[in-house]
Formats: sequence, structure tokens, C-alpha cells
Amino acid sequence: MCENETIAAISTAFGEGGIGIVRISGAEALHVLQKIFVPAGTGNVSSAGVSSAEHASDCGDNATAFQPVSRMMYYGMIMDPADRHKVDEVMAVYMKAPHTYTREDVVEIDSHGSMVSLRKILSLCYQYGASPAARGEFTKRAFLNGRLDLSQAESVMDLIRAKTDATFDVALEQLQGRLSDEIRTMRQNLMDLLVDMTVNIDYPDEDIEEIIYERMQAQLDDVKKSVDRLLASSDTGRIIRDGLRVAIIGRPNVGKSSLMNALLGENRAIVTDVPGTTRDTIEESLSIHGIPVRLTDTAGIRETEDTIEKIGIERSKDSFNQSDLIVLMVDGSVPLTKEDHFLLDRCRGRKAMVLINKKDEGKIVSEEEIGSLLPDAVILRTSMKEQVSIDAIENEVTAMVHCGGVVQQDSTIVTNARHEQLLRDASHALADAMDAAAGGEPLELIEIDVHEGYDRLGEILGESVSDDIIQEVFSRFCLGK
Ligand code: GDP
Repeated sequence: MCENETIAAISTAFGEGGIGIVRISGAEALHVLQKIFVPAGTGNVSSAGVSSAEHASDCGDNATAFQPVSRMMYYGMIMDPADRHKVDEVMAVYMKAPHTYTREDVVEIDSHGSMVSLRKILSLCYQYGASPAARGEFTKRAFLNGRLDLSQAESVMDLIRAKTDATFDVALEQLQGRLSDEIRTMRQNLMDLLVDMTVNIDYPDEDIEEIIYERMQAQLDDVKKSVDRLLASSDTGRIIRDGLRVAIIGRPNVGKSSLMNALLGENRAIVTDVPGTTRDTIEESLSIHGIPVRLTDTAGIRETEDTIEKIGIERSKDSFNQSDLIVLMVDGSVPLTKEDHFLLDRCRGRKAMVLINKKDEGKIVSEEEIGSLLPDAVILRTSMKEQVSIDAIENEVTAMVHCGGVVQQDSTIVTNARHEQLLRDASHALADAMDAAAGGEPLELIEIDVHEGYDRLGEILGESVSDDIIQEVFSRFCLGK
């Protein structure tokens, strides 16, 4: 497909909506609009629609064609010039290149949000000069035309897909160039170093060689630290992208399903007082204070002869092992059992929160007892029956995430797996360069590693990336974006 073709797509979600938008981008965008749009107030359209008598003279005749002012919204009618059939009453805007999303001429037509109308308008766009846009093609053009770098383009899809505040905020920061700016600074530092090195390779001067090596090590160390700082944020980034994985464990009947329901605010898991009824893991996604959370109510990790339960228990073990946070619930109204001790033991060395439940029924288990068994855990006394401490649980979950650095306003967070891998590669290359410098290797050799680091960082911004990667990035986009 030729990159210079004029493209069109429905940019709003499929289904019913108040309005829907057809977007056109490319050199022919205005021409397409002129063909199919009849503005009101030109004698052709009344507020009740088009009086189509004069329409024919407008269509296809560029001399008398509608000449919109760029970025001015016009009210009018989409009409099929072939038979003067009225398609829909719309608002249309023409945005002249280069100050547009794609840096090309762009037209947007706001119609009623019916797929009937949108499809007809799109079909007219195709008939009068536009081609169907591929997935993400508008954003791809924005990237290819230098409006966005690749990391910014990737953040567009993250923004569209974001389900929670934190996910959205981080994507917006990335779109606004926060990550790109940091990467550019690192690359500039490496470029300065490369220039110094090249000069010294071309015109060796033994007197200053020692100084060069010292300075080089310091500079490499600086950049590597910045790369590693970004890399360290990717754990947090994964939580922002995929959600904080929380496994709720506890022996049967302590109140796990009730907790899950309380957090979800709806009756999703089955609550009964027959032990072992939650036979499988139940996973739910929710947002706690803007942080995406994936909550798994487990079947409990214990011995059983029941085959179905056994499967559930295996799954419980998996979600236990993969979780970022374990919420262990015990029944505080009765003494701790062997099973409770077994589970408390399993939580050692993990991020854990212990909920001493059934406060309403008694306080046999004390905070001190749990604290002595699991000194690092957050301990809360709760009652699922009386909905006591649900807020406190939510606060502790998000506090843990905040302290762990999830949503710190003042630091950049890497959420994209591609960026994470490239940062890791860059960090390795810089470590190699530092080792080589420390070992007094020739500058020519060190330069190769520094260049490698510089290039890997560049790939985050989309510099010197292969067509395959560009293709892959944009294939994950939706149509119309
Ligand atoms: P699970 O097997 O651990 O998932 O436990 P459930 O959530 O199914 O609860 C088992 C039983 O304990 C149900 O009858 C709940 O209503 C009851 N239950 C849960 N939490 C509390 C609580 O805080 N106090 C009291 N009195 N009963 C509770």
C-alpha cells in the first residue's frame, strides 16, 4: 500500500453512539469532502437539511466547490453526488497540513453515531478518492511524518486501552514525550562521548588519553545509571500495564469469597459455609484508587482427595507463586489451625497482608501472634460480615504500590515490554563498554559497545528500527486510529 494514498476510516467505536466520526487523511482529503459534503448557509442546505436543487452544481466542480477555512467546523449534509441521495446531517472540519495529527491534510466528519450512516459516509469516501486505512495507519503516518516518535505512537494505543486512572496517566505522560526526552538526553550524552572518542581515535594523543578514559568511565556510569533507573521502573510499569496481581489465600470458610465480593462490590464468587465450595480460582479485574488490580480468590492450598478440588489447588499454587501481593485471611474467632500455620509459613519472604477476619465473632487470634510469625506483613483485623476495614484493605493495597514506586509523579515509568527489552540491551552494552574501559581496551573496541547502547536507545524512539518492528507495533492498533 502506498504511503501517500489518501486514507479513510471510521474512527469511533463500532456500535451505537451519540456521534460517530469518519476520518480522512492525505492530499485528497479536502477533495473528498468537497465531493460529498454540502454546507448549510450556502443556499444549498437549510437547517432542516439540504435543498438539493443547487447541489449538483457544487459537486465535482472544484471551481465553485466548498472552500472551508482550516480547522473551522461546518454544519451541512453528506450527499451522494451520483443521485443526490441524502446520507446524514453532519458537522465537518478540514484541517490543513502540516498542523494535523498525521501532518497531512485531514478531514473529520461527525455524523450521527449509527453504523448505517458511518458506513455510507465511508463508502462515499472510498468512491471519491480515499482508500481504506489499515490498523493504526493514521498514527503510523504521524510517526513516519515526524509528528510523534515511536514510543509516543505506542502510548496512543495505551491511552485508548487504559482502564484505570494510573494506566491512563502514565500513557499520557509518555505521549507528551516524558520518556522520549529522557532517552534523548541519554543519547545526546553518549553521542558527545562518541565524538570525543572518534577524535581521539583519529588523532591519538597519549598525553590526554588517560583523561579521556577517566572521563569516559564517569560519563558511561552516568548514562548507565539513568538507563537502570528507567529499567527499575518497569516492574511498576508492568503493574500499570497488566495490573497488580493479588492472590487471596486462606483455609476454607474464613471469608475469602466474601472479601472478594466486598472489593468487587458485587456478588461474583459463591459464598456458602460448606468448606471448599470455591473450587477453582476466580480472577477478577478491578481498579483500586486508579491502580489496576487482578484479584484471584483461590481454592486454598491444602491436601484433598477430591479431584476437582485438586485442580483448583494446583491453580491456587500458580496464582500464589505469580502474585505481587498475597492476602492471607485467617478466622480470628478461633485459634490458628495447622493449616493456617502452613499458609503463614508459605508467606515468608513474600509481600503479604494478613487479614484477621470475623472480628464480630471474637478476637482469639491477636495481631501480636501473627506479627511474631510474619514480622514484615501488614496486619488488619476485619469483618466481612459487617464490612469492617474494607477501606483500610484498599488503602494498604495501594499504599504498598505507591511505596513500591508505582505512581510517583516525579519519575518516568516504563510500561512497554519492547522499551524494557531495549533498555536492558542498552544497559548491557554500556556495562560492557565500562568493563572494556576499566580494562584499558583500545578506544575502537569500547566505541562499538557505546554505539550499541546508543542504537538500542534510539530504537525506543523508532530511530533505525526495521519495517517489521514498525509493522508489528501498528498492527496492534485499532482501525481508525
Ligand atoms: P471462603 O470459603 O474463605 O471463601 O469463605 P466465605 O467468604 O465463603 O465465607 C464462609 C462463611 O463465613 C460464610 O457463611 C460467610 O458469610 C461467613 N463470613 C465471612 N466473613 C465473615 C465475618 O467477618 N464474620 C462472620 N460472622 N461471618 C463471616
